[in-house]
Amino acid sequence: MEPTIVSGTEVSNKVKDDIAREVEQIKTQGGKVPHLAAVLVGDDGASRTYVNAKVKACERVGFGSTLVKLDADISEAELLSEVERLNNDPDIDGYIVQLPLPKHIDEQKVTEAIAPEKDVDGFHPVSLGKMLLHLPGFLPATPAGILEMIKHYNIPTEGKHCVVMGRSHIVGSPMSVLMMRNDYPGNCTVTVVHSRTQNLKEITRQADILIVAIGKPEFVTADMVKEGAAVIDVGIHRIDDPSKKSGFRLLGDVKFDEVAPKCAYISPVPGGVGPMTIASLLKNTLLAVSLNQ
Ligand code: NAP
Repeated sequence: MEPTIVSGTEVSNKVKDDIAREVEQIKTQGGKVPHLAAVLVGDDGASRTYVNAKVKACERVGFGSTLVKLDADISEAELLSEVERLNNDPDIDGYIVQLPLPKHIDEQKVTEAIAPEKDVDGFHPVSLGKMLLHLPGFLPATPAGILEMIKHYNIPTEGKHCVVMGRSHIVGSPMSVLMMRNDYPGNCTVTVVHSRTQNLKEITRQADILIVAIGKPEFVTADMVKEGAAVIDVGIHRIDDPSKKSGFRLLGDVKFDEVAPKCAYISPVPGGVGPMTIASLLKNTLLAVSLNQ
């Protein structure tokens, strides 16, 4: 079977083009141009890459963007006062604090200090509560991006069995809620599996839709997947590869080459969920402008 490749690159480009058109319209009408800020603490290579990609995406759609770089040894109190400053800056519509933070800083405390109306990452308890209640608000960027991909490719979800692998606060848990909601995409019967799950393979093999967010390179093999399934791979791993100019290549949580022939739909890494996360962040920033007006 030739699977349909669920291309996050393609869908995210479409989302960005739509946003760029909206920004043009806002500018013509003299409205508030959306402005996203990103806070980067320390100099972790992967975090820097993600943040730079977010800033570049802002430029592409015509948003204002601000990058706040802070030293790795900044105290928690200093970071919290920076968060407070961004909360009170009327020009910033939304902002993110790039995770992970250095070990001496309590991530949950920082996440909760972000004003809920500027929480474009969708990690604040208020955002997650609204998601659970199906109220308008910011959806966590990665799960929201996955919904957008499913919608774009018209992947059927109603009545399907969706197995979500992983229960993190930023991907697995919200994803399971969204796939269960009475909506499209949604209306699935959802099973969540995690590191304590027994008989994992028996469960994943029942999935019509398998969403994998466990952070283990190429963990999901062909024998774990049902014929004709839709597989969405959230994992992202940099593997050293001296043959590449960059010195590394990217792998997902799914062994793509052997799983793909069994699937009706599959998302690749790179070019799958990654670009969608950024597109969702931009969508949330646009939403922030309208919600806050
Ligand atoms: P995480 O916080 O490390 O959570 C991993 C989850 O997987 C946990 O719930 C863990 O179970 C579960 N798990 C670990 N090993 C397992 C196993 N052998 N079988 C079943 N479940 C297992 O990870 P995350 O933040 O959700 O991220 C997951 C992956 O997605 C990572 O590779 C990350 O880099 C990537 N990611 C990509 C994007 C993107 O934009 N593409 C965004 C976010 C994350 P326990 O709860 O029991 O520990």
